[in-house]
Amino acid sequence: MVLTDVAPILVCPVCRMPLNFEQAALRCERGHAFDVAKEGYVNLLRKKLPGDTKDMVVARRAFFDQGYYEPVSDLLNRLLGMHLPATIEGPLRIMDAGCGEGYYLARLQQALKDKYGQVHGVGIDISKDAIRLAARRYAESFFLVANLKEELPLADAALSSMVNVFAPRNVAEYARVLQPGAPLLIIIPGSHHLEELRHSLHLLNIEENKQQHVIEQFASTFDLLALHTLTYKLELQQGEIEQLVMMTPNYWHQSTESQVRLAELVEFTTTVDFVCLVFQRKLSVSE
Ligand SMILES: [Zn+2]
Repeated sequence: MVLTDVAPILVCPVCRMPLNFEQAALRCERGHAFDVAKEGYVNLLRKKLPGDTKDMVVARRAFFDQGYYEPVSDLLNRLLGMHLPATIEGPLRIMDAGCGEGYYLARLQQALKDKYGQVHGVGIDISKDAIRLAARRYAESFFLVANLKEELPLADAALSSMVNVFAPRNVAEYARVLQPGAPLLIIIPGSHHLEELRHSLHLLNIEENKQQHVIEQFASTFDLLALHTLTYKLELQQGEIEQLVMMTPNYWHQSTESQVRLAELVEFTTTVDFVCLVFQRKLSVSE
């Protein structure tokens, strides 16, 4: 995707004026400029913040490349296809909020382009290492380093859809940047997600009542249209178990004891349990 396609929906993170693509950078008329990296991504983060490390995103890519989460990606593709209108004026604009190394977004664009023709994918993540890896592989998508917890560098009603997979949520901003009626797909871990692995290695627990909590968070600006669950078993070998642990926040919290146990696991079968919440941006929102 070329930058002239995406620039019209971007705003300056400093002054909120529109950004234009000129002289190899995104620039606003007040003179704030953001260089395009050689991989094609742009860093719009106002101050440097820690995100997933290079080790984490490399582990995640290696894990995804083995196809273990392909059923989740297929579910996203199918559900977004089902909940988008049959025709869209102008290009279909999908954002992956918390896109990591770009796997889900690239597969969504691929899956939807036959039906919608022009599909513009925008991936946002706070980790520059993740975005760099994403931009290197997926030239058809555009990637931005930005903080999902702050005001997003996007114009109001800029997007026709959004996905958010195991990533932070910002209800007010998602409501602002989505067009009225636009679908928002959120994937969160179900209560059985990786339960055998979590018990064996004393990994982080899944927040109790997470699903209800997310539904309530979004209730004022989004309608819940559907809820899908996806559960299956993964049979993993030694290196893959390590990748799976490393690609999650457990990377930051592992005890020495659990590292030793992890090193001893030669093969392991664990459950994956995903919940997909299909929301729709309300047509009108009373302030
Ligand atoms: Zn500016």
